[in-house]
Parts: sequence; C-alpha cells; structure tokens
Amino acid sequence: MGYNLCIYSDETIVLIYHHIALNVPLYTLFTYAHPKALAEGTRVAIRFRGKRVCGVVWQSHIQPDIDVAKIQPIETVFDDGGILSASWRQLLTFTAHYYHYPLGQAVMAALPRGLREAKAMTLPSLPLAYQLSAQGQAHEPPATRFYKQRALWDRLSQTAATLDELRILHPQARQYLQKWQQQGWISQHTLEPHAAPTLARHSLNPEQQLASNCIQQHLNQFTPFLLHGITGSGKTEVYFDVMEKVLQQGQQVLFLLPEINLTPQLLQRVQQRFAHTTTAVLHSQTAAGERTQNYLRAALNQAALVIGTRLAVFTPLPRLGLIVVDEEHDPSFKQDSELRYQARDLAIWRARQAQCPIILGSATPSLESWHKAQQQQYQLLTLQQRAHTRARLPDIHLVDTRRLPLDNGFSEPIKQQLQANFAAGGMSMVYLNRRGFAPALFCSACGHTFGCPHCSAKMVLHQRAAQLRCHHCDYRLAVPAACPECGNQDLSAVGHGTQRVEETLHQLLPQARILRVDRDSTSHKQDWIQIYQQIEAQQVDILVGTQMLAKGHDFGRLNLVVVVNADGSLYSADFRAPERLFAELMQVAGRCGRAEHQGHVWVQTMQPENPVFQALKTQHYADFANHELQQRQLMHMPPFQHMAAIRADARTMAQAQQLLRAVQQQIDEHQQHTDQVSIFGPVPMLMARLAGHERAQIFLESHDRRALHQALSVWQSWLIYMQNDQPHTRWLIDVDPLEM
Ligand code: ADP
Ligand code: ZN
Repeated sequence: MGYNLCIYSDETIVLIYHHIALNVPLYTLFTYAHPKALAEGTRVAIRFRGKRVCGVVWQSHIQPDIDVAKIQPIETVFDDGGILSASWRQLLTFTAHYYHYPLGQAVMAALPRGLREAKAMTLPSLPLAYQLSAQGQAHEPPATRFYKQRALWDRLSQTAATLDELRILHPQARQYLQKWQQQGWISQHTLEPHAAPTLARHSLNPEQQLASNCIQQHLNQFTPFLLHGITGSGKTEVYFDVMEKVLQQGQQVLFLLPEINLTPQLLQRVQQRFAHTTTAVLHSQTAAGERTQNYLRAALNQAALVIGTRLAVFTPLPRLGLIVVDEEHDPSFKQDSELRYQARDLAIWRARQAQCPIILGSATPSLESWHKAQQQQYQLLTLQQRAHTRARLPDIHLVDTRRLPLDNGFSEPIKQQLQANFAAGGMSMVYLNRRGFAPALFCSACGHTFGCPHCSAKMVLHQRAAQLRCHHCDYRLAVPAACPECGNQDLSAVGHGTQRVEETLHQLLPQARILRVDRDSTSHKQDWIQIYQQIEAQQVDILVGTQMLAKGHDFGRLNLVVVVNADGSLYSADFRAPERLFAELMQVAGRCGRAEHQGHVWVQTMQPENPVFQALKTQHYADFANHELQQRQLMHMPPFQHMAAIRADARTMAQAQQLLRAVQQQIDEHQQHTDQVSIFGPVPMLMARLAGHERAQIFLESHDRRALHQALSVWQSWLIYMQNDQPHTRWLIDVDPLEM
C-alpha cells in the first residue's frame, strides 16, 4: 500500500503580485508576479515590450486589476542590501506627485546609471585605514631629510589614515605602504565612516560663532536656516563648524552646491578639513561607475559626507543629520528638462523628513527664501563682515553711458581705470553679462541679422572658429561671405562677446597679459587648475569672462572689476531677470578685494537710477530684496503666488497652442475649473523656438498650493486623453518654473 506524497494542484501555487516602477513615460506602475513576496525597494529585472529592463518593487501583495494569465514573472531579483529604503521611496513618491511626473521615470532619474541597468551590483566595501603596527612603532623612522617619507611615517604613527589622506602627504604613499607592510611595520583595518575630523581650521569670528551656535542648538530637529552672508564673510567656515558636530554624532551630511562651484579648490578645502571623514562626491561629471559606487557608499552609510550638485539630493542617506545648500539662489538647482525638480525645495522636504536642520546659504538669497525668512518660516542668520579682517567691501561706481561715446563697448572712464590699474600693478577683471547679449553678425547695409533657423535665438559669432553658433540647439554655420538679403559683403560684428573684448583690450594695453575664461576654454577641471596656477604665479593682468567668473572663486590679487554691458537683462521679459542680474553683479563685485587690496567695481549702464544699480551701489541686498518683493506682490508673482507652467511643443506655434486651448475648453465645458486658480495664456515661450519646435505655454497660478495641484491633476488627465488626437504635439508640466 502506498501514498501519493506529492499532490500537485493549481491551488498550491500562490503567486504574489507586485507593483513595479519602470522607466516608462506613463503615469502608472506595472504588475509582475513572483513566488515570494519581495521587499519594497528591491531592484528586479523584468520583461517589458520584449526587452529585459530594470525595475524597482514599489508594492507587494497587490490585487491585480488585469487578467492574471497575462501577468509575467519577475526574471531576476537583485540584492542591493535594501538601499532603496522606505524614506527614499517616500521622497520619490512625493517628487513624482509634486512635479506631476511619472513615478517610474522619477525613480529611474534618481538612480545612478549602474542601478538603472538590469544587472547585479557589487556592493562597495569599507575603505581601508593604515597605521603603524607595534613592530613599526618600535622601528626607527625614516631620516628627516626624506621629509615626505618622514611626514608619512609620522602620520601613520598617530592615528589610522586612509590612502587618500596619505597621498596628500606623499604622492607615492601607496608604494611606501606596500614596502612597509612587507616589513610588518603597518597594520590595516576597515575604516569606520565617522572618525574624528582633523585640524586645519580657522577660529570663528563672533558673527560666525553666533550663527554656528544657533544652528547647533537645533540638531536633530527640523529647522531651516537662511544664512545670509556677504561674499567672503566665511559662510563655508560656518557650514564646516556645524558639519563637524553632526559628523561627530555619527550622522551623515549632505552638502549641495551649484555645478560651477564644485571646484577642485573647494574639494581640496573639504578634504583638508575633513580628511578623516569618508566622502562621496556626486555630480554629473563624475564617471558613471564611480558615481554608482559613491551612491552606494552613501546609501550603505559608508560615506558620512556627500558633496554634490542638484542630483545628489536623491542620494539615500540612512543617517542624515544635516543638509547644506550653498549658493541657494543659484538657478542650477532647478533641473530644466525631464523631471523638472528644484533641489533646494526637495532638500527642505528631506530635512523635514529626517528631522534635521538645513542651512541655505547665500550672499544674495532667492526672493523665495528671503520671503520665507521674513515670514519667520526660516530662521535668518546674518554675516555682515568679511572674514579676513583687512578685507573690505569694494567701492561701486556707476558710469552713465547715455552721454558718453563708446569705443567698442568701452567708455573713456572705464578705459582709464583699466590703464591706471595696470600701471599700478593691479589685477583687473572685465565681466560680460552674456544673457541676452552676445556678439552677433549683422549686415551694415541692410541691417540683416542672423537668427538660428531652428530656434528663435540669435546666432552667436565665434570669430576664431569663423562660425555662427546657436547657443540653444548648437546649430553651427560657417560665417557667410555675403549678406543673404542684399548681397553686401561687409558684414560686421555687434555686441561684445568675450573675444572682441579681448581684442579691444589688447589694443588698449598691448603689454598686459590677458586671460579669457569662458565655457569654451574651461570645460575641464584641469583648465581651472591651470587658470589658478597662472593667477597665483602673477601671470595674469586682466581676466575676461562671463558668468563662469562670477561664482565662488577666490582670486586674491584682483582689485578692479569692470562690467561693460549690464543692461541687457533689464530689457528681458522674464520677471526674474532683475533678481538674477543683481545676484550676479553682487557676486562679481564680491570677487574683488577679498584679501588686503581695496577693490573697485565700475559698471557701465544707461539706467543708473534703476533700483538694481542703486542697491548694488550700497551693496544692500535687503534694500533690493524688499523693493523687488513689493513689485512681485503688486504683480501677483511668486513668491506671492504659486505658479505652474503647462507647455506644449509642435512643428508650429498654432498646433502647440491648439492642444492647450482644446484642454482648456474641455475643462470649461465640464466645469472643472475653480476660481482659486488663474489661467494665463496660451503664449509662446520667451525662447519660442527650440531645436526645430515651436513652444507654447499656459500658466496656472494660485494663492493656494493645494488648489493649484488639483487643477494640475485635472489638466494632466485631459492632456493624456486629448493627446491621442494630436500625437505630434508633446506636453509637459513645470511646477515652480524658472524658465519663462
Ligand atoms: P564665503 O563662502 O562667505 O564667501 P569663505 O568661507 O569662502 O566665504 O571665506 C572667505 C575667506 O575668508 C576664505 O579665504 C576663508 O579661508 C577666510 N576665513 C573664513 N573664516 C575665517 C576666520 N574666522 N578667520 C580667518 N579667515 C577666515
Ligand atoms: Zn538653434
């Protein structure tokens, strides 16, 4: 007699259904099956439209709302040590929701490339630290005349050190470690991420100390601070002081800064100050593999300090204890493509979630943040003095060019200043406001100008390359021999781009050594290092450049700044143009007189009475901000209104606007509109043509954020539905837009 011990029946196979986030432009999650319940946040490989792709488990044990026979299995499950934690998933859920963006796409945008692929990851191991062994301690150190070896040895005899740290002392640290290890003089162990920080620090001045103390009283609580400090007031030292305390508590720090400020100089400063702290650098120029490893190290709490640009705001940080957003007003914290997020705002959200303080720092805060500080939502901390006791703020002079003849853009007083400063051995900077102003070609006979055939931008003249280039879609054209309109062969350059200014300066001061700094000449980290070396070696008399020169840099000897074409921004239709111009000019002014030299700034303008220039003259940010906020309030503009833009682009402006009009009509017909939300448009965008497409937009504005988001959801549903009729029109939603 025998029993059939194995009974197979359909009922015994219970599959668990999961919602998976995929990189698909649809506002939905996808259902896949697995025999076991998978933890939320697990990365998996699945098949989607015949391709094997990566997905992230968003929910398990769901009730499928489609035919279960059609649900495909999860192919592979990756074990990443649970890095995509619940708090990380909450951040992404919020982000997708707030920016009205497909969750799966938001999730993938927040992951480094290595984690977006349907591949297993090798998890990083903790970095090694080295120290003299007992045997090493008993041994003779290298002779003092080998001072670098000796420094290495002395360091190893103190506390454990990482290879990175040792390399600062001796470039061949690795070889010596190996050699000494073979002798048995060195012991190694894995480094705990939060070790004591090292020396190299300033003692804070009273203002700095006050600011730091104030923040330190709020550790482990959600408290937003706006640190308003004039350039050179030592904001960075305040950040460092608080960071040190947070790291000592065994917590992690997220330090966000604009791309352009992530200079080797700054990294070196951080590395010296926090030599003992495991640091992960995350920005778009980091190689993909390294970025993935750094992301993982942060997520596994192996890196205590994460420094990065806007995308670093999505780094999982299990022990987050402090966020710093340096130069918080910088427009580069807003991403203007795909997932249009504002990293500063998400950083605030994260600080609230983690219940930790956040410091927004700037010499010229965004009006949004300034307004919040005025409303007591942010705690305002002020640094009014420059940190170097001998450094003073520069003197600002306005040159009214309405009655002055210009020679290639330069007025006589400005030329004299440059000549005099050169004769006295000073270093000068000629700053060009590139926005809305660029060297262009025009026909001196008929006045024809060259617009980009694909965009509404004017083509910019690149004299060296003998090309016209579009600075929006990068369309390039050889400089034409004659005017296409009238055949005239005398085409001249207008505007004052960096190259023309350089030529003019050469004529004015043939002996001066002039260095031009712009995007073309500084695309690599290496370029900046060279520029600094040249400046430090006193090989530069005049720097010429654009926005790139305004931020974060410290050019000790600089004592004269000349701004030749500031007015362009004042003609812009963008309501934020004055705010940007003011911030930029304050930054530029802040570049000079940082050490012991008194700085002077000369600004040419046809509107010296404009509040931007008046506030610049007294260097009173608050004057400017309060005046500008009044204007904004009168005009019902942010921060007094919440704003979103709905954009459509198509081959023609009419098509682009048609989709927006059609949706608006449906919303009206179905009485889905609320009085709490005002609608403006559709209008063409300021940059109406981009890469062969016409772009229209409609603005939704409201005092009530919730009402605005509800309206956006209604728009979104209709856009998805109506787009079927107009498949060639694309649309997007931009919440809190910066681009107009
Ligand atoms: P900010 O970021 O506010 O523009 P930094 O933090 O870069 O200013 O500081 C400007 C300069 O002043 C730097 O060279 C810095 O080393 C120096 N500095 C900052 N704090 C102090 C201090 N307490 N004592 C002396 N020098 C300081
Ligand atoms: Zn173009």
